Amino acid sequence: MKALVKEKPTIGLTLMDVDIPSYQDNEILIKVKRTAICGTDLHIWNWDAWAQKTIKTPMTIGHEFMGEVAEVGKNVKDFKVGQRVSVESHIAGTKSRNARAGKLHLDPDTINLGVDRDGAFAEYVVVPEKNVVPLPDSVEDNLASILDPFGNAVHSTLSFDLIGEDVLITGAGPIGIMSAAIAEHVGAKKVLLTDINQKRLELAAKVCDVETLNVSTMPIKQKMTAMGLKEGFDVGLEMSGSEQALRDMVDCMIMGGDIALLGLPSEEIKVDLSQIIFKALNIKAIYGREIYETWYKAIALIESGLDISKIITHTLSYKDFQEGFDLLNEGKAGKVVLNWD
Ligand SMILES: [Zn+2]
Repeated sequence: MKALVKEKPTIGLTLMDVDIPSYQDNEILIKVKRTAICGTDLHIWNWDAWAQKTIKTPMTIGHEFMGEVAEVGKNVKDFKVGQRVSVESHIAGTKSRNARAGKLHLDPDTINLGVDRDGAFAEYVVVPEKNVVPLPDSVEDNLASILDPFGNAVHSTLSFDLIGEDVLITGAGPIGIMSAAIAEHVGAKKVLLTDINQKRLELAAKVCDVETLNVSTMPIKQKMTAMGLKEGFDVGLEMSGSEQALRDMVDCMIMGGDIALLGLPSEEIKVDLSQIIFKALNIKAIYGREIYETWYKAIALIESGLDISKIITHTLSYKDFQEGFDLLNEGKAGKVVLNWD
């Protein structure tokens, strides 16, 4: 089969022929139809410091995808050949206290598909049955391939009660934009989405109807006042990993406000902890999705009319993977989907 492999410890990926993977009794072989390129895949492509210490070559990467069940292990009872599915890419363990309590998103032994074991940028991928999510017909193929990052947005955004609340979202990458769309959909009062990249803010305007701000043109506080907010934002979602964004956010929060942190800083950052304490802020760090409550909510949001489809700006053949990675590295795309049909 064809697969996109990090063959050697250098920049890029190789499209090559590899064996169709074999599966265990509790695993499912999936025929991949659509994959999406994640920020994680870009790190691996670019072979940055994180990728160098994390990825053991050769490794087929990719974890955002949908496809059809091709074959099932002999203990698999709940899936049928031909069934449309997506997959939770965090494969939790079974032994830790959290795993045994059913809090799979907090299991320290979690391994990641397409990072720690062969992933979905291939014609076939093998995953444990417990990670497979059945897809309803209401979620079309391209959209189904981005349920994993949409789930990051769902988990972050629905961490707090947003109805009638003013929400600040820093970082207008795909997850920040999808978070803004969710906040608007579930009834937030005012939503402000910020970035320093004008193209991202223009894409945001196509996906959702929220206030946007290029912070290189005006401070958030000035915009906040112009929006009629007197005491600050009630909820903050930090999606950029930028030190300045987090500092601005803390500065613009109401006393007792809630902050979710998803954006991953590339190095240690400085924040004014005494300001956080004196403002009595509630801070929650987000890693992945709640398994499987987030998947339930994500599909329910789509079925209740939330349309995030315009976040997918490019659909390419898997053979044009180089173009997809180039677009993302140049900041010229939202989500890029590769078609494996
Ligand atoms: Zn991802």
